[in-house]
Amino acid sequence: MNRAVLLRAVGGAALGLIYPPRCPFCDEVLGQRKACPACAAAERALRRPAPRLAGSDWMLAGLAGGAAAYRYEGAVRAAVLRLKFGGRACYAPALARRMANALFGCTFSRRGGIILPEALPPAALEYDLVLPVPPGGARAYNPPGLLARELAGLLGLPFAPKALYKARATLPQEGLGREARLTNLIGAFAVRPEHLPENSRVLLVDDVVTTGATLTACAAALRKAGAGEVFAACLAATPPPEQAPGHAGESEQTNA
Ligand SMILES: [Zn+2]
Repeated sequence: MNRAVLLRAVGGAALGLIYPPRCPFCDEVLGQRKACPACAAAERALRRPAPRLAGSDWMLAGLAGGAAAYRYEGAVRAAVLRLKFGGRACYAPALARRMANALFGCTFSRRGGIILPEALPPAALEYDLVLPVPPGGARAYNPPGLLARELAGLLGLPFAPKALYKARATLPQEGLGREARLTNLIGAFAVRPEHLPENSRVLLVDDVVTTGATLTACAAALRKAGAGEVFAACLAATPPPEQAPGHAGESEQTNA
């Protein structure tokens, strides 16, 4: 067992004594239960059977690929909104475990309240570091950063939260068409090279992928700064734009 992974798991269990773990999908306190029985069926129904994002449906230019664990609907959408706007940072470990399981095949065991990954999945060896889609402006609270930190811990990979940052203000992406979303983000992200070793294989983490424009803009900045390849790991994906009601006019405040 990776020592850092073990220490994080013990720390998480200790924190759980002060802030009892809650089900991210309904916000009920879980107590000693591993998962919430009331939400199990809804959660299963919202899992994307093939997590990989199709390049024909999402903009993934400059990325080696991307994947999302859930469809951004129902209980998953409620969880993301409470994580993003309701301050429920405590959901991040549970949601990151689900990402690790759905996207990388990570499995977990529970001993005395401590939840540990059973073995590092071989897929984790394909990456050198994990970093999140950065927050806009000077916001310190960044849900993708919370998920990325947890995911890095579970996969035993270095976490590089400072490598990528938002270099300039942009218009809200909501309501913009696909091309306008890309144009809005040109030059929006930049890299601190001292935090990004040359040719790094980067796992880029976001909470919700809408069109993929944000992931594409982040990947462009990372590749320009010398990243070897970039793969996007997302908690949830909205339906591809052509399937979504109202086409490009999503009203949610997602990053993408
Ligand atoms: Zn629940």
